[in-house]
Amino acid sequence: MTNALSKLLQTRDWLLADGATGTNLFNMGLESGDAPELWNDMHPERITKLYSMAVDAGSDIFLTNSFGGNAARLKLHGAEKRARELSRISAEIGRDVADSRDRPIVVAGSVGPTGEIMAPMGALTHELAVEIFHEQADGLKEGGADVLWLETISAPEEYKAAAEAFELAGMPWCGTMSFDTAGRTMMGMTSADMVNMVDGLANPPLAFGANCGVGASDLLRTVLGFAAQGAERPIIAKGNAGIPKYVDGHIHYDGTPDLMADYAVLARDCGATIIGGCCGTTPEHLEKMHAALTTRPRGERPTLEQIAEALGPFSSAADGTGDEDDAPKRRTRRRRG
Ligand SMILES: [Zn+2]
Repeated sequence: MTNALSKLLQTRDWLLADGATGTNLFNMGLESGDAPELWNDMHPERITKLYSMAVDAGSDIFLTNSFGGNAARLKLHGAEKRARELSRISAEIGRDVADSRDRPIVVAGSVGPTGEIMAPMGALTHELAVEIFHEQADGLKEGGADVLWLETISAPEEYKAAAEAFELAGMPWCGTMSFDTAGRTMMGMTSADMVNMVDGLANPPLAFGANCGVGASDLLRTVLGFAAQGAERPIIAKGNAGIPKYVDGHIHYDGTPDLMADYAVLARDCGATIIGGCCGTTPEHLEKMHAALTTRPRGERPTLEQIAEALGPFSSAADGTGDEDDAPKRRTRRRRG
């Protein structure tokens, strides 16, 4: 294992990833409906700023501005032919930022979902999905990404297609799913299902986990689910900064930097090794998370009650894993009972 992430994981017992991409780009003037990836070419200095803000706040890993940089997503903006190019530029900018620092920084090439439903339920075939992911992976590799970073996936078929594509591209990778539907992904995967899927892959990720979803509490319940399943590889926790709320026509995340600091420490206690934020997580949040992870001691694995007390209530009574005798859930039920 000679890639930058594996090296860091050998010397550190936690790593800070980055925060939101969308939220921070909107703060720089991106309009809703615009393709953020076009900014890699149009406004590279803003993308340099986006990455630098995360690194300055203490992040060891940042994700490139290429979440929607696959041909299927870019087609919505008439830019489907630019998938490889825009992904390459996102990583080139990242490489420059990372290499300008005197500590190791991992450039993670972000790969989001295609936005299409895969066969047999939908029209996107496995072969085409692999091709779409492979094209983007090649661009990110050319640009100098250290690893690829699959995120916000709901369907196991799509996760598997990406794993295959990343093998074709010859790139190490990480991959997270979004558990946004009562503890499951939109396509019904539980945290336990994900551990089993990842363990069965021919080209497994270096690290796996959860990103986005509902709030920070739900995300940590999912991490506890990974740990309970006996996950062997490092777990990634990238939760939103609180719960999205509509305020004056804008989506606002109610999680304060102090709340995300608590979240970061609890994520580590839950068993996560790579900890970051997702939507709503700004550099201010990351700074507090970094300080908390650096200065606060590790604690016992928290209970669901302790998580809810610190970060707010869960969005659903259960997370879909286990049977009725599952201990944490039983405690929850009793308390409500
Ligand atoms: Zn998010």
